[in-house]
Amino acid sequence: MDNQNFAGDRKMYQGNWTCSGCGAAITELPFEPDGERPLFCRDCHRAKMQDRRPRQF
Ligand SMILES: [Zn+2]
Repeated sequence: MDNQNFAGDRKMYQGNWTCSGCGAAITELPFEPDGERPLFCRDCHRAKMQDRRPRQF
């Protein structure tokens, strides 16, 4: 069966992208970009998440 990356370590995709939020360089993503959606760096992604629905840990 193909369940190697089901619950283990996440696969990271290497590349050269630019953050659509702050323009920072992105060299690693936890998902494979489709080339259409805007990409955000960790800081911008976190800011977006906090902006929409604040979570408390
Ligand atoms: Zn950014």
